[in-house]
Amino acid sequence: MITSVINRRTFLTTSAAFGATLAAFPRDAFSVADTVITILHTNDTHSQIDPLPANDRNAGMGGVARRATLVKRIRKENPNTLLVDAGDVLQGTPYFNFYKGEVEYKAMSAIGYDAGTLGNHEFDNGVEALAAALKFANFDVVSANYDVKGTVLESKVKRYVVRTLGGIRVGLFGLGVSPTALITPENFKGVTYIDPVVAAREVVKKLRDEERCALVVCMSHLGYVETGDRGDTFVASQVDGIDFIAGGHTHTFMEKPVTQAQPCGAKTLIFQVGKSGIYVGRVDFTFRSGKLASASARLLDLRNV
Ligand SMILES: [Zn+2]
Repeated sequence: MITSVINRRTFLTTSAAFGATLAAFPRDAFSVADTVITILHTNDTHSQIDPLPANDRNAGMGGVARRATLVKRIRKENPNTLLVDAGDVLQGTPYFNFYKGEVEYKAMSAIGYDAGTLGNHEFDNGVEALAAALKFANFDVVSANYDVKGTVLESKVKRYVVRTLGGIRVGLFGLGVSPTALITPENFKGVTYIDPVVAAREVVKKLRDEERCALVVCMSHLGYVETGDRGDTFVASQVDGIDFIAGGHTHTFMEKPVTQAQPCGAKTLIFQVGKSGIYVGRVDFTFRSGKLASASARLLDLRNV
């Protein structure tokens, strides 16, 4: 499934929302220093270790070396930076066919990923092979709606993680797509799929009430679907308290994030950056006195690294 582009109306809504947010929190001489948390995100990198090959329309773009350089530079500018991935790290080039995920997870570890979630293609060789590949991941893998209890993935996949940056507690959780028609049942053996809205409501409540998170980020492999009862937009419209969804699965190329109103009226940002690691998404969340005051986002083009 490949969709690209976002309609103009959504674009304008996004800009207006950001404008309003910024206007509502004017800078003044008495405010304490702001804390900016930068979230960098990728999705559907699909075993693209090298830059895109010559026969691709994005020839020469992307590649893990360039991504590592970009991330290093941004971390230097702002140490309060998290790098996350929304799944489908595996499948797409011979690196996966030959090394079964070792190269992809080693590369992500070297780049310095903080967390990632599971896409459907992570299960292409089954649960045992995924667990073997995840031995090479030195970052957290999270999924709130794939219940892996009793499987070999139990020690490798958490429901969520919390990181504290600049005194701000950040909750990170993941949501996976329904395996029906996407994952061979044999390859998903022992894993229980939970409705993403149900799982998200439960985990977000925990992150907000018990873990005291001021920022809640979801890595979603549900896909960007503008209407209907599935996908990132639907989850955001049904669940209170998710500030940001770093999306994946539909390979949707967005130049800017879109916003979706939560049931309580607050806004969730949704951003997805195509595929193959050609782009990296960046969202800067500004906190004032420990509270989220504004957000700004942009697409980072790896040609400019
Ligand atoms: Zn996928």
